[in-house]
Amino acid sequence: MAATSLSAESAIAPMPPLTDSYGRVIHDLRVSITDRCNYKCVYCRTGEVGAQYPELRIDEYLRLIEIFVSLGVTKVRLTGGEPLLRRNVVELVRQLAQLRTPAGERLDLALTTNGHLLESLAAPLKDAGLNRVTVSMDAVDAATFERITRIEGSFAAVLAGVRAARDAGLTPLKINCVLLRGFNDDQIEGFARFARDEDVVVRFIEFMPLEEGRLWTPEIVVTLREIVDRIGRSMPLKELPPREASETARRYGFADGVGEIGIIAPVSQAFCGACSRVRLTSDGKIRTCLFSQVEHDLYGRLRAGASEGELREYIVRTVQGKEARHHIGEPGFLKPSRSMVHIGG
Ligand code: SAM
Repeated sequence: MAATSLSAESAIAPMPPLTDSYGRVIHDLRVSITDRCNYKCVYCRTGEVGAQYPELRIDEYLRLIEIFVSLGVTKVRLTGGEPLLRRNVVELVRQLAQLRTPAGERLDLALTTNGHLLESLAAPLKDAGLNRVTVSMDAVDAATFERITRIEGSFAAVLAGVRAARDAGLTPLKINCVLLRGFNDDQIEGFARFARDEDVVVRFIEFMPLEEGRLWTPEIVVTLREIVDRIGRSMPLKELPPREASETARRYGFADGVGEIGIIAPVSQAFCGACSRVRLTSDGKIRTCLFSQVEHDLYGRLRAGASEGELREYIVRTVQGKEARHHIGEPGFLKPSRSMVHIGG
């Protein structure tokens, strides 16, 4: 499979940065390459619904991503569903690693996975040019973990995947944990120890109303403040400066200098003002916000024969319309038509 090359016209005409109408520069693209998942995490999926949306061919994702890159996207994260279920994901990474930004630089290539298939794929993905992975883990206790994923043996598989990724150099290795009150918030302190023992950055994420069922309430969200206070009682933390303005996680180090945790607080401390992200769903629709009420059919235009210039114009126009912010917890809040697993987390 060869990477399609940009037209001569696109190679010479410098493009202004991709910005929205609020002046935010968009340089981060998240691409779902399937909405299938091999886990049925109880806070995400009902367990009754499977894949709902078609997948594009791998070369079609590549073509669309390449156009975003020509417009200034410098960071691409593959996600899903579960992206490692997708055949040829290693080949896609290899092709993406060949792309260059308009400034001639390599992309920052990352992937978010549940880690179940990572033990055997970590080294090939690294060799293909992947820089980093984020592994989702919602418990450090095997029984709790498997009660959440509803897959027997999942804890051992993911732990092996985490260690393989670290050994392959897919670092800094981040572990994302979604916390729900009364459900897995007893894991907080265990995760803090896990971060130190396994040399990984654990990031707690506030639960957002993006589940297939109806579980979300304001009370179920374990907030940043609460997490910091709880860990701080046994292991003092100090806040670390952000590495970049659009960083989603607030970073904390342990007082003795060993280990780091992060907290992503989209509910209690929304960071929409610094958002640099857009998403492409597995069926090729642009979503300018996780909570968008509308999607923009980029792939439909590609299929209908739009030229590269037309596709670029469409992306620029769509990004201009990016929402100012989400409205979680406000009266009149509307859940998006797709849940997290079908959007691409
Ligand atoms: N299968 C991959 C994985 O498990 O990382 C990628 C897709 S998964 C939807 C991406 C991330 O979204 C996971 O870390 C998951 O825990 C998180 N997630 C799912 N539903 C969420 C919600 N309602 N609020 C916050 N995070 C959520």
